[in-house]
Amino acid sequence: RLADLDAVRSDSLLKLIALANADSRPNKIDVGVGVYRDGQGNTPVMRAVKAAEKKLWETQDSKSYLGSKGDIAYADLLRPIVLGEHSGDERIVGVQTPGGCGALRLAIQLIARANPAARVFVGMPTWPNHVPITVGCGLEIVEYPYYDRDARRIRFDEMMAAIEGASAGDVILLHGCCHNPTGADLDADQWREVTRVIVERDLLPLVDIAYQGLGRGLDEDAAGLRGILDACDEVLVAQSCDKNFSVYRDRVGCLFIKTASREASDIAMGHVLQIAREMWSMPPDHGAAVVRTVLQDPALTADWRAELDEMRDRILRIRDKLADADPRLEYIRNQMGMFSMLPLTPEQVLQLRERDAIYMADSGRFNILGMADDAIDRFVAAVAGVIGG
Ligand code: PMP
Repeated sequence: RLADLDAVRSDSLLKLIALANADSRPNKIDVGVGVYRDGQGNTPVMRAVKAAEKKLWETQDSKSYLGSKGDIAYADLLRPIVLGEHSGDERIVGVQTPGGCGALRLAIQLIARANPAARVFVGMPTWPNHVPITVGCGLEIVEYPYYDRDARRIRFDEMMAAIEGASAGDVILLHGCCHNPTGADLDADQWREVTRVIVERDLLPLVDIAYQGLGRGLDEDAAGLRGILDACDEVLVAQSCDKNFSVYRDRVGCLFIKTASREASDIAMGHVLQIAREMWSMPPDHGAAVVRTVLQDPALTADWRAELDEMRDRILRIRDKLADADPRLEYIRNQMGMFSMLPLTPEQVLQLRERDAIYMADSGRFNILGMADDAIDRFVAAVAGVIGG
């Protein structure tokens, strides 16, 4: 009976959002939720997105079904942005998905069909949805240590030792850039080392790239992925436009599949479309149509890039400000993207919440954009009051 179901253990981040919403202190700071915020604490619709929505409203004369691939031009227009010099490689096929989540689900379900014995190697900590998506597709997870929060560095030797233990056909799930939740990205040498092991051990790389453009720049943030595309015949890329176009709720993503031949990629895509058909049949149109409209128009594309640059500059500015404020926060300066982790105990996180109305995850992950410009000093002072050495 449905009534016999046990209650789901609710996601701690969702609980945190509810707690923050219920707090009426006017100076509260919510660094829990993972969205871009401007200096006033808002998550605005990007200028080019607004303009494209207007254009779409004026020109779209039907909302009839598009077909299982969704907006084909959208996936094509993303190729140069995501794949760079590999954009013309006809062995790479792409399809619109409902967000990065949808792309990940399809990718992992596809792997489960091709090789149910594949194990998925995931560095810890990671974005909390990676594990349930993988387990939900019936694949075994192998967790390895990725980041040492207290030493504030990547545990690269341990990562290498773990993936050296993977067998042919095992999957290695990598964050393309702006690692969530740590902000700690592999450097170019480390990407090369990881790529070498992937090739040597015949592993399947699955690159999750959800924050392209919010680290160093669109091309710079895809450099690790492109190195993998240089070296590997089989690659899966789960991409999201939700952050870099700020269209979170519109659910805009793309899955790219590379195999050794166009024929094999088309067959893999056939499976992906069948899996999608069982889950959502066709991806939601609006967000992808908007991104397509931006990318089809050079002026809108230029404006999107300019605003993305502004967003990235703000991220870098806040990172510098946090690092300048306290030598113990120096490590935040050279990390990437929206997140970083503070070496705090759950008790210290609770203390910040109760005493200072600062809301962050128990893990110490915080969104560096979570506070408005005029709240940064108060945040740093409160954190400095509780942080370890
Ligand atoms: N991967 C990572 C690492 C993420 O942080 C997120 C979103 N928080 C996603 C994928 C999924 O993004 P989307 O909202 O596009 O599904």
